[in-house]
Amino acid sequence: MSEEVRDVIIIGSGPAGLTAALYTARANLKPLVLAGVKWGGQLMLTTEVENYPGFVEGIQGPELMQVFRRQAERFGAEILNEDVTAVDFTGKPLAVMAGGKRFAGKAVIIATGAETNWLGLPNEQRLIGRGISSCAPCDAFFFKDKKVIVVGGGDSAMEEALVLTKFASAITIVHRRDEFRASKIMVDRARANEKVSFVLNSQVIDVLGKEKVEGVKLKDVKTGEEKEMAIDGVFVAIGHSPMTKILEEQVELDERGYVKRMVRGERATAYKTMTAVPGVFVAGDVHDYHYRQAVTAAAYGCEAALEVEKWLEEKG
Ligand code: NAP
Repeated sequence: MSEEVRDVIIIGSGPAGLTAALYTARANLKPLVLAGVKWGGQLMLTTEVENYPGFVEGIQGPELMQVFRRQAERFGAEILNEDVTAVDFTGKPLAVMAGGKRFAGKAVIIATGAETNWLGLPNEQRLIGRGISSCAPCDAFFFKDKKVIVVGGGDSAMEEALVLTKFASAITIVHRRDEFRASKIMVDRARANEKVSFVLNSQVIDVLGKEKVEGVKLKDVKTGEEKEMAIDGVFVAIGHSPMTKILEEQVELDERGYVKRMVRGERATAYKTMTAVPGVFVAGDVHDYHYRQAVTAAAYGCEAALEVEKWLEEKG
């Protein structure tokens, strides 16, 4: 029996994957979305989303992803909550393994997104969920009138700190340099809040506490001096890494591990969202470390879908 070859398989179900699903479904390509057991991407870990256009009063992240999903399904996208375990892009059709099955496709859109970076400290993994978090909108509520630190110097760190000001009594931003990667407006907002203070040129070198976080050990990177600080919570906001484990050896990754698109001119192509493997396209945070917004991910998903449609047409 010959296997069914789908026009397009989409790996991932955040804003990029589900927008690609919506567009390819409306183009009658009957997309199969391998959404992951924990489907929906990073917005499933947030609460209020205020900057997604179209929602005047904002919308809860998980609710937004439900809307994305229902909209794609309305046009016939087939969405399976299965984790992709492997891909084989060496032959034709392209193959994607998930839930113990093999799926074949003429085109694949990779939209696997990104995940939180942790500090890699000995006691860190043990205390995640016991005072260590990477998601203030999810967990700030548990730190009512408590003292917390936020680690990092980017926009995420500032945003996490500002979310925490609604609940915690004191928030210290611990950053390893004395200059911020965050935008000025975000730093200014954090500085303007009387609950927020800064410890600069400092690294967290350990988290203290048996059953739950009770403190951290900090090291001044200039003087080498170490000191302990009693706190109840640690919010890690030091960036994200692309989810590319299943893609190693299958598509080209850049030096940071993000999927590389074929740059126009580098190898002549009309498809800006295609990788070096013909028929394999990419969208969202798995290739974009710059913008990392839900709306930009959705836009990348749209671009990839339109290009898949064009590519399939050209291939006949
Ligand atoms: P980021 O801009 O890459 O910043 C990561 C921060 O963590 C940097 O300050 C970095 O320090 C620090 N860091 C990295 N590894 C570390 C380690 N092992 N130990 C201690 N510190 C470490 O990441 P991000 O803040 O997640 O932002 C990513 C993108 O999303 C940005 O483009 C940002 O503008 C965007 N974003 C925007 C908003 C918004 O507009 N509201 C909110 C969130 C994110 P160094 O500076 O020393 O490298």
